[in-house]
Amino acid sequence: MEKTLEVLSEILKNLSEKGVKKIGIQLPDGLKYKVFEIVDFIEEKGFEVSISGSSCYGACDLDLEILKDVDVLLHFAHTPIFNLKNVYYVPYTIDYDVDRLEIDERKIALISTAQYVWKLPIVKRKLESLGYEVELRRGSDRVVFPGQVLGCNYTVLRNSKADAVLFIGDGLFHPLGAKLYTKKKVYRFSPLSWEFDVIEDTKIDEFLKKRILRVYKAMDGDRGAIVVCNKIGQKRRDLALDLKRKAREIGRRVDIIYLDEITPTKLENFPYDYYVNTACPRITYDDAELFKVPVISPQEFEILLGLRDWNDYEMDEIV
Ligand code: SF4
Repeated sequence: MEKTLEVLSEILKNLSEKGVKKIGIQLPDGLKYKVFEIVDFIEEKGFEVSISGSSCYGACDLDLEILKDVDVLLHFAHTPIFNLKNVYYVPYTIDYDVDRLEIDERKIALISTAQYVWKLPIVKRKLESLGYEVELRRGSDRVVFPGQVLGCNYTVLRNSKADAVLFIGDGLFHPLGAKLYTKKKVYRFSPLSWEFDVIEDTKIDEFLKKRILRVYKAMDGDRGAIVVCNKIGQKRRDLALDLKRKAREIGRRVDIIYLDEITPTKLENFPYDYYVNTACPRITYDDAELFKVPVISPQEFEILLGLRDWNDYEMDEIV
């Protein structure tokens, strides 16, 4: 938090010089418990603060409504996807060490998430001093740092020449995604728990089994809907229209629904047999159990339509 307040202090100094008075703040769920500290810090510098209570899943999820009532929006803990006037990104980084890595392969691709990615150049040097050859590559414009992955973006691993991937971060979602994306061995090191392991092939099998069940259930359904999200960084209208066209061409009836947020409650009164999610891919994979009917990805919908084979299975990406 110390580093965050340091950066915040610089931003506030700059905003004060510009005559800014009203500030909106947007915090991801994991940082909401720090709201008192952040609000007090900003107010002590003479600003009026309003807090966004809307979702804040990623840098794609900016609260543009609150921005109508404040001069500037401070969006915490994500790296910029957009260069919008009056939106400032305040990083939340975590320091860590990487001492107990035992990696068999000599050529490794390094990846991480927003909180940890800043230290990858140092990790790279350390691994190189131990004799490893390390790939730390830039991805598409959606990611800022070399080696950075998002739940919707693994472009830093595109055409990787490494023999294995080392993911530094928390949870299973990103390393699983990296394994599906590269088909390579993926190591995971969690700086918080200090755990170091390999993502087993059985995890991929379990994941795919669940996805296959959902796609087959959707296949049995009659009428589906393709969901388009209104959030600035998740809206994929052209993709939705393209999928609808492909479906209609082979006689499958699907409609398009626009939503501000894709949740079970927002969908529960619709009678559709399944949904195709074009918004944040994590909704499809992470929240699958929450929905009463299958929610499948665009690539899975292509399988359902017979336009793609399971052997060409890909995680959904927004690039
Ligand atoms: Fe994160 Fe989802 Fe937004 Fe991608 S679309 S940045 S995974 S919240």
